[in-house]
Amino acid sequence: MASIWREKNVGIVPRAQLQGEFETEAAVIGGGLTGILTAYRLQEQGIKTCVLEADAVGSGTTGGSTGKITAQHGLIYAKLIHDFGRAQAREYARQNSAAVEAYARLIEKEGIACDFARCSAYVYSRDGMAALREEAEAAKRLGIDAVLAEVTKLPFQVDGALCFPEQARFDPLAFTRALAACAERMGATIFEKTRVTGLEDMRIFAAQGTVKAKHIVFACHYPIVNIPGYYFLRMSQQRSFAVALRGVPSLSGVYIDQQQGGLSFRSARFGEEDVLILAAYDVRSGKNTVGGKYRELLSAARKLYPDCELVAQWSEQDCRTVDEVPYIGRYSAETPNWYVATGFNKWGITNAMVAAGRLSSLIMGEAAEEEESIYNPARFKLLPSMKNLAGDAGNALAGFAKAAFSIPAEKLTTLPRGEGSIVEHAGEKYAVYRDEAGETHVLPSRCPHLGCRLEWNPDDRTWECPCHGSRFGIDGEILSEPAVHGLAQEKDNACADQLIK
Ligand SMILES: Cc1cc2nc3c(=O)[nH]c(=O)nc-3n(C[C@H](O)[C@H](O)[C@H](O)COP(=O)(O)OP(=O)(O)OC[C@H]3O[C@@H](n4cnc5c(N)ncnc54)[C@H](O)[C@@H]3O)c2cc1C
Repeated sequence: MASIWREKNVGIVPRAQLQGEFETEAAVIGGGLTGILTAYRLQEQGIKTCVLEADAVGSGTTGGSTGKITAQHGLIYAKLIHDFGRAQAREYARQNSAAVEAYARLIEKEGIACDFARCSAYVYSRDGMAALREEAEAAKRLGIDAVLAEVTKLPFQVDGALCFPEQARFDPLAFTRALAACAERMGATIFEKTRVTGLEDMRIFAAQGTVKAKHIVFACHYPIVNIPGYYFLRMSQQRSFAVALRGVPSLSGVYIDQQQGGLSFRSARFGEEDVLILAAYDVRSGKNTVGGKYRELLSAARKLYPDCELVAQWSEQDCRTVDEVPYIGRYSAETPNWYVATGFNKWGITNAMVAAGRLSSLIMGEAAEEEESIYNPARFKLLPSMKNLAGDAGNALAGFAKAAFSIPAEKLTTLPRGEGSIVEHAGEKYAVYRDEAGETHVLPSRCPHLGCRLEWNPDDRTWECPCHGSRFGIDGEILSEPAVHGLAQEKDNACADQLIK
């Protein structure tokens, strides 16, 4: 089942694929919220911009988000002050608070129908008040209006909650699609079904064409170029699961547990009714090997709302940086005209707006103080040993078996229908899925990104890379970056393609 936003936004006419050679001032790789906001900002300022989207606008994490527009990112501000100091923590607080207002203005200016509504955002606790009090104090020191509450509208007792008033919520996919159309009206070009497979300096390669640009923005969620940048050494992906329920009282506020991976609540309009989106878990991508997450979530929902009825269920992943702050700025010191926005740690709605402002200012030559910014991607220090690690990871794939699949039938038919597993044969490991009709789908078991062994996700019936979160369908088609090739394609060259430059 797809997210309610995807269910609501069906029947969109696809855009053209990139064909042949295209030249532009700015090229944005990725047509999610970050890419579209950035393209809009650039085009608004007269920079000729194109977007290269692997699938369709909003088809990535944006389409599976819970759509809370808030500067309240769980419990973050006390930690930011502690880890980065007050000045940088204040920058984060200010920019994300300003982003909430920027959405309100933009939605009004462009008349975008996306169920935008103002609401309060709450972090609740069932584990005492100490962390909430500390966070309230930190938020206030950084200029955020933060109030402690003793009771909430949640269907269970809490010890308390921290409220940020005047936040908002919306349909993230309806917004992104509408804004893409606005950017096009201003002159931007958006290509769909155009997966970028490589770059050479300021030239971008896709299957059917190339783009030459003066500025290149990586808004493709997980950066697809490994070197330079080395993002693969400092980021992972975390997957969450969500259900939408009818027959549940509507909540005016949005809520999240102070515990990482605890329950998140928000109501949303779905057709003619209000539904509740309940999301939970925080599983590293590729590590949900046991499955049962939707069942567990539904059973938790039924305890809270005995009359609820399932409308939709979905899972989605987001990138996490080692210090839990996004990377927004220049891609690397070696590539002054490449830019990146990634690592939103499940709080990418306001951070995408921050990224669009920051990257468009950098491209316009207006931004300064990159070094001092909390978002500076260069805050990571590359150690010599890490360079070797990159080389080793590449080598892991170089010897990938080209052998024809000759696995004896008995090894395959013992696999239950509807399940996938890594099967060993003649010293090689294969990713094997047996479908409901009993047919087996055999694939290489290593990720073409950097050669890690794939794992089966039984809930979503996908192959996932536990190292960096690339995902593949049962026939090897690529579902999520950072890989740029599917499993069924030439493997030996794939890694070399990605270790570009
Ligand atoms: C379950 C869940 C709930 C969330 N809820 C919230 C919330 O309530 N509030 C909040 O602030 N944040 C939330 N987030 C986080 C937020 O949704 C994301 O951080 C944000 O949507 C990321 O947007 P993006 O544009 O960077 O990435 P994406 O939406 O993933 O867009 C990237 C695009 O790049 C494309 N792409 C990838 N590789 C290539 C390539 N090689 N060539 C061309 N295109 C490529 C993809 O197809 C995709 O469309 C949530 C995240 C999850 C997982």
